[in-house]
Amino acid sequence: MPELPEVEVVRRSLEPQLRGSRIIRILAGQHPADILALPLEEFAREVEGRRITGLGRRGKTLLIDLDSGATVTVHLGMTGELSLVRPDEPCPSHHHLTFVLEQGRELRYRDIRRFGRIGLLRPGERNRLEARLGPEPLAPELTSERLHERLARHRRAIKALLLEQSFLAGVGNIYADEALFRAGLNPLRPAHSLNLEETRRLLAALREVLEEAIARRGTTIRNYRDGLGQPGENQARLQIYGRPPGSPCPVCGTPVERVVVAQRGTTFCPRCQPLLPTAAASRSGNAGSSGSSTG
Ligand SMILES: [Zn+2]
Repeated sequence: MPELPEVEVVRRSLEPQLRGSRIIRILAGQHPADILALPLEEFAREVEGRRITGLGRRGKTLLIDLDSGATVTVHLGMTGELSLVRPDEPCPSHHHLTFVLEQGRELRYRDIRRFGRIGLLRPGERNRLEARLGPEPLAPELTSERLHERLARHRRAIKALLLEQSFLAGVGNIYADEALFRAGLNPLRPAHSLNLEETRRLLAALREVLEEAIARRGTTIRNYRDGLGQPGENQARLQIYGRPPGSPCPVCGTPVERVVVAQRGTTFCPRCQPLLPTAAASRSGNAGSSGSSTG
């Protein structure tokens, strides 16, 4: 499933090609209503004739800015793909929508499982998106101190919180597991139990795994492609995500374990990612409330 790095790679691959292009027409493919957040006619009316001024990204959402001040939002869901092609390129199956561009090019959207969504923010409606999303993990404004304050408000497992887009925008199952492994943090640790030093490790690990994945043009497990049809190369570098339970940890050789957190399969190494602080507290007779105060 495309997460922050994959959407960022799509953005970077398409932006130089799309910036300044005019959208001549919107063409419906199969079942456009399944992926459009508004009626097709209404979408076409807002978009046709408009020029693309730039491509942005917020969390896992790609933003196509138009010269009207409106923004087309594209959420790729599980299997959504945007591709820039020539009009004579045969249309693939599961193709839902085409943006016909000037200079003989088409931007096509296909989505095998149809969990993706294309919407429209009219001028001044950007806060509708912002209201649903937490900070960007790569933004310098997000400091360890600020993240620590945010973590302190939640008792849920840290893995579950990382998946929540209103807590942090852009992280999904792959990069949450990779970051927790790299930071040596157990995915079941209650979020508020992380001290500032652990939070620093977590933020640094998150940034490393996301930036490395962008540099390798994303992770292609099944069908992710960038906007020009190229698969990513990060899948070969994943350390823990997708490793079968019982197989050796790439660092210490201990059999890795799999648990389900927030309905998502979660792989971790019980030795590199111990559930330590709470276990130590209950052994000293403090069972129940594990108030790990860290100052
Ligand atoms: Zn290990």
